[in-house]
Amino acid sequence: MLDAGLIADSPAISMPGLIEPSVNLSTVLNALANEGFGVWVVGGAVRDAIIGINPHEFDLTTNARPDEVMAIFEDNIPTGEKFGTITVRNGEDFFEITTLRTESSYGDGRRPDEVEWGDSLAVDLSRRDFTMNAMAYDVAREILHDPFDGRNDLDRGILRAVGEASRRLSEDGLRIMRAYRFMDRGSAGIWMPDHELSAALLDCKHMLSHVSVERIWQELSRIVIGENASSVLLKMTNDGIIQRILGCDPMPDEFEWIMACDNDLEVRLAILMNSMSSNEVEDSLRSLKAPKKVIKRSKHLHFLLENTPHPDESRIYRAVVADEVKAHAMMIRARGWDPSVIESSLSLPSEVKCLVDGIWICERTALIPGKRLGRLKDWLHRIQIERDLKTKDEMERVLCTLSWQHGNEDEWPRVEWP
Ligand code: ATP
Ligand code: MG
Repeated sequence: MLDAGLIADSPAISMPGLIEPSVNLSTVLNALANEGFGVWVVGGAVRDAIIGINPHEFDLTTNARPDEVMAIFEDNIPTGEKFGTITVRNGEDFFEITTLRTESSYGDGRRPDEVEWGDSLAVDLSRRDFTMNAMAYDVAREILHDPFDGRNDLDRGILRAVGEASRRLSEDGLRIMRAYRFMDRGSAGIWMPDHELSAALLDCKHMLSHVSVERIWQELSRIVIGENASSVLLKMTNDGIIQRILGCDPMPDEFEWIMACDNDLEVRLAILMNSMSSNEVEDSLRSLKAPKKVIKRSKHLHFLLENTPHPDESRIYRAVVADEVKAHAMMIRARGWDPSVIESSLSLPSEVKCLVDGIWICERTALIPGKRLGRLKDWLHRIQIERDLKTKDEMERVLCTLSWQHGNEDEWPRVEWP
């Protein structure tokens, strides 16, 4: 049995039933306890349980060393062994088990210089980022350790650093991004940082340069799809953070459009980056190492944001914009513009194959295969879509009206919109 006085050296209050463990979680907790180790649920799961949200994952902390954790659980992945984290699988659930750590210096502005295993829950909690993330729950004893009054901050809706805010943000620049992410409280609104943390966010923003672009992207993308994204993005803009990470000067007046759109990441990025050119959008997302398909789609939607089809163009618009018509309509509606032409195009065909091929054109024009032939096929294809042609005879009649013998083929119409 764990000697509570040694390791669980942080004041505790009784909170029966705060976390009702699943069978999988119980098995993992018991396996550690049976070997005489202390084990607590920490971080997000405790925070979420207190505000009545079902935790989506369970992070555990224990005084067992990583090699001891691995010896107890066969099905383990040493995800961050150097930092004391072993991911353990039980059934379909994964648990991140991190060994208690002591304080150490942070020379590189992101990671501790060296990680030392600790024997004190109090010390471990003191190196966590925000008071609401610095609580631990002992499932067996049904007690909560909350040394920094995280519960009270949750009640008041306040985000507060553990310890001196500017020192904590200077140790690890990632905490800046985490602070903005945690401001979004979902259906309960926004947690505002207390005065000290607010000031530290402004003073320490240079620390972001110590954070990898991958981690910045990871946090930013979560912020952008948040339920209260516009409020958080507004604060990030007022604090000069968005400018620093995206290299653009966003237009806060447009943030309300973000909220009028579903939490579609690329739609929201397109709006957020509306002040940039298409190429800047691409460069900026690329420098954050966003996934290729996110970059491509954001750029496409960003382009659509400023373009709406004329009713006469509905067919070509629908064929070109294809799957993104709904996202486009959503953005246009969010701006307060009329999406009816866009929406009515949904009844038109989106995938229109060209009725004729190169051989068919060769036979009628004596053009040899090459660029001019390809461009002529494009031109015909466009007319086919615009006029809703259905037969090769109709295509032939069109071909007779085109002056393909003359002119620069680069100027011929293409299947593109606008
Ligand atoms: P969620 O998983 O819901 O995003 P979380 O709070 O569980 O939120 P994790 O990234 O899973 O976030 O981290 C687990 C816990 O580890 C946090 O609650 C916090 O106590 C601590 N933590 C994570 N990252 C840091 C950091 N950069 N500095 C200090 N403590 C951190
Ligand atoms: Mg977590």
